[in-house]
Amino acid sequence: MTETIPHPRGDAAAPDLSPAPEGNQGGDPAPLVIYAPMRIEARAIRRGLDPASPAEVLRTGYGTTRAAQAAGQVSHRPFGPMAVMGVGAGLTADLRPGDLVVGTEVGAVTCGSAPLLAAELERAGLRARAGPITTVDHLVRRSERSALAAEGNLLADMESGPLAAAAGDRPVAVIRAVSDTPDRPLAGIVSGGLAALRSLRAAAPVLERWAAACGTRQVLLAGPRSFCAGVDRAIEIVERALERQGQPVYVRKQIVHNTRVVGELESRGAVFVDELDQVPDGATVVFSAHGVSPAVRQEASRRGLSVIDATCPLVSKVHAEARRFAADGYTVALIGHAGHEEVEGTLGEAPDSTVLVQTPEDVAALRPRDGERVAYLMQTTLSVEEAAEVSGALRERFPAMRAPGSDDICYATTNRQAAVRAVATESELVLVAGSANSSNSVRLVETCERIGTPAHLIDSAADIQLGWLEGVSTIGLTAGASAPPAVVEEIISALAGLGALSVSERVTTTESIRFGLPKEVRQ
Ligand code: SF4
Repeated sequence: MTETIPHPRGDAAAPDLSPAPEGNQGGDPAPLVIYAPMRIEARAIRRGLDPASPAEVLRTGYGTTRAAQAAGQVSHRPFGPMAVMGVGAGLTADLRPGDLVVGTEVGAVTCGSAPLLAAELERAGLRARAGPITTVDHLVRRSERSALAAEGNLLADMESGPLAAAAGDRPVAVIRAVSDTPDRPLAGIVSGGLAALRSLRAAAPVLERWAAACGTRQVLLAGPRSFCAGVDRAIEIVERALERQGQPVYVRKQIVHNTRVVGELESRGAVFVDELDQVPDGATVVFSAHGVSPAVRQEASRRGLSVIDATCPLVSKVHAEARRFAADGYTVALIGHAGHEEVEGTLGEAPDSTVLVQTPEDVAALRPRDGERVAYLMQTTLSVEEAAEVSGALRERFPAMRAPGSDDICYATTNRQAAVRAVATESELVLVAGSANSSNSVRLVETCERIGTPAHLIDSAADIQLGWLEGVSTIGLTAGASAPPAVVEEIISALAGLGALSVSERVTTTESIRFGLPKEVRQ
């Protein structure tokens, strides 16, 4: 499946403003063109640019009429990235003079790459936010600001709308520096204006990095990716608990390792705690998908807490195996990563019989009670290759070793690693959506690196550094089992804001596994 996503453009783009077609056919990329309304703004931007930069800074003149006239000339310029920069009126109370607003929507134009640019400005030490910018035909009065802000706008100016619309299919960015705010409207315009000009100058080199990252490219989506059955179930358990008994619903540890998921559930009334002593007596607590040790269950029971267990059934299976092997007198070598919640829970099932082994060196140091009675288990979210290396070392040392009844590395982990391997071989760069504490997401990055393709773990589109994209025309994209599908969509939208994007999917297998819900939240 291939889908081409043209660079997003607004309905307001008039037909006579379309870019010159001959400029969009390869060869040297056309340089960045920056439109700035006033001479003082254009000068500040030029001073911020590298003296050797091919970027052009063009003055449009002040106000909507002049901006519309300049917009009429845009189509005569060689096709390339285009930006609008200048100062503007802050509309919300949390903006300060000198803050930068990167337009997500500018009039009818959507600037898809705005989250990337705003984040890059922040990484450069500037205060920047991405949000809607509105263009008006007069200086905004104090009384107007709250009404424009209530419509969702962060900033108002008098030029960006028609200029951005004239960009047509070319990548467009709008950066406005706040010169005056609702608290300090025109009275503070001189000092605010100076702060804004300083910010424009500092933003110019970052804008050049944005332009260097622009270009036509393709995205190869790994399939399957994103939520697995265990994560779907865990989230649904918390949602249902909230629906049934209202907030707060306490959740021990992150329900799944993803900041977006946790933030959304928090906003609906879930309270995430590290340990049970933070849960009031008699309250309801949900155990996360990673599972808990028997000691935690006993503590919850002693405290009279009402427990809903969201442990993934595939983690519960490993716990059951640990109990069974330990009861049969085996030393259990648990292959996993120290400190991970799942590992702590499994170790707690038979602490006197279970030893964590992370490397072949750990295997060499293992001292079982009886070398003929050794079994191994695995954390469910390991790298298939890494786990095979450690289990191979165990097998070599303990030939009679017992294995789990079926693979402990779960279907979702295995499938996502196989899928990302398929796209990584065709890609120059792989982006993995997932949080830093998500084991299976980190393993996806490692899988790519093992075959020589650079990969980055990103929680959101804003984590994409523009330098990663320069000169890269094929990007693999996947998401860990705890990362929501919406993050993948956001990443695609952001990349589409840098130029025309074709999106294809490489499906290595399909998944249909579903897990039932615990009785406490069943209908
Ligand atoms: S990654 Fe595997 S073990 Fe973890 S929740 Fe998903 S299905 Fe369960």
